Amino acid sequence: MPLIPDHILSAWNKYGNYTAILLIVSGLLLVFTHYLKLLITSDKKSRYDYINKSEINRLWFSFLLFAIGATLLLNTLFYPTNWLWFFVRLFLSSMMTIIISVVVQNMLKFYFPFYIEKRLKKLRYSPRISDNGNVMKLLSEEEEDVYLDEGMQAEENAYSVDYDVWIDEKTGVTKIEKYNGRLHALKCDKCNYQTLKVSKEEIIQTATLVAEGELIKYLTCGYCGQKSKKSHKIAKLNPKAISTD
Ligand SMILES: [Zn+2]
Repeated sequence: MPLIPDHILSAWNKYGNYTAILLIVSGLLLVFTHYLKLLITSDKKSRYDYINKSEINRLWFSFLLFAIGATLLLNTLFYPTNWLWFFVRLFLSSMMTIIISVVVQNMLKFYFPFYIEKRLKKLRYSPRISDNGNVMKLLSEEEEDVYLDEGMQAEENAYSVDYDVWIDEKTGVTKIEKYNGRLHALKCDKCNYQTLKVSKEEIIQTATLVAEGELIKYLTCGYCGQKSKKSHKIAKLNPKAISTD
């Protein structure tokens, strides 16, 4: 086995090392800026949406940058004596990184959602403060309808959408927040992971003035692949809303 020409190895060590450090720093920055953004976002609903939309992807992407950087770093720190050692080291460390990545990916996909869900629930139901500094109250499903327009109510009835209405009881000021159930994972009955999501919604019977309609939600589990359907009633149309058209 011939020795590695010195200039190739030293170029590899030098530039590989720079790249490794760049990757590691970018990975760390990505996590850091994510949590910094959460820290400076004071509105709870915006924080909710941001966590829901990007946290898992962000963490996964920054882990990848970090892991690839660390593997590269390991392969540029020491001088191997010949090509055989060079490739053995490269191969073993890459395998190791792939195994660790699979473990991390599974944790992020299947265990992390439980933790996210807890934080989201806390964010969604912790009291809002109005501009006047008063603590607002969350209205119940029955109370909130007065504050939602027809379109919002129809959306709530028909799709995986939920509106929360917060009211400042002293001034009467309200704050309406929209929650999209499609983005949101439910617990799967079969595997118990928090990975069940609405994949499709279909109205099979539109609501009329005299009869309720019916909506079917198709759910698919991201872990075990379990598919299920759920039927939902759509409330009768409101005659008042129609006569004013
Ligand atoms: Zn499942």
